[in-house]
Amino acid sequence: MYALEVNNLKKTYRNGVQALKGVSLNVREGDFFALLGPNGAGKSTLIGIVSSLVNSSSGETLVFGASVQKQRSLAMSYIGLVPQEINFNQFEKPFEIVVNQAGYYGIPRATAIERAEKYLRQLHLWDKAFTQSRNLSGGMKRRLMIARAMVNEPRLLILDEPTAGVDIEIRRSMWEFIEGINESGTTVILTTHYLEEAEQLCRNIAIIDQGRIVENTDIKSLLATL
Ligand code: ADP
Ligand code: ADP
Repeated sequence: MYALEVNNLKKTYRNGVQALKGVSLNVREGDFFALLGPNGAGKSTLIGIVSSLVNSSSGETLVFGASVQKQRSLAMSYIGLVPQEINFNQFEKPFEIVVNQAGYYGIPRATAIERAEKYLRQLHLWDKAFTQSRNLSGGMKRRLMIARAMVNEPRLLILDEPTAGVDIEIRRSMWEFIEGINESGTTVILTTHYLEEAEQLCRNIAIIDQGRIVENTDIKSLLATL
């Protein structure tokens, strides 16, 4: 079973930019997968299409066999997304932010409350759970984004540049959490423009450049060729 299957995916934005020029990719269930590429390569566009925030121009995207284009809500029920930019309401408290996210998935309130506590604790945010989130540090805000993405206990966790601009200590604690999530069986895909991050964490890797996959292999083989 594949967590993700992408077949000949293309995206041309309205301004004419061809962000994806026929991308095909499979990610196995349980994998820890890196999508590596320079700025502008198409990583966010690909993640956007998989998580249904961006419409594709053509091609097919399946999440655990469910088509993002044709079975949107089923496909989305499998995904937790950690976008690159902090996009929660900073006047809300972490606890509210995580509980409210559960509402989008129709998760019962009692379960949502339980999970909010569980994931805020795991991400070392429980002591800030009832503080306005605008008062959190940058690293705490990033961890809150992860806690929010976990509320539907996704089978596939996608993180777009999760540690961009985060200092090394916080980066390590985020890596630890994400590794734990993967060890517990969740498939993880992250985008990064640091080979080091991919190397530290991931098993398999695809390199994207100018809207095309230029390499798709396991990390060890890739490092052997460098
Ligand atoms: P879609 O084809 O998915 O509807 P659009 O082409 O409408 O996407 O673009 C969405 C928004 O992003 C527009 O407001 C557009 O101006 C803006 N945008 C344009 N160029 C860029 C860019 N290079 N990076 C990010 N956003 C951009
Ligand atoms: P990456 O995440 O690898 O930095 P993106 O997917 O953000 O790459 O961008 C791929 C290309 O598409 C870039 O040329 C970017 O400027 C362009 N682009 C991204 N979003 C938009 C948008 N909404 N409208 C128009 N062009 C966009």
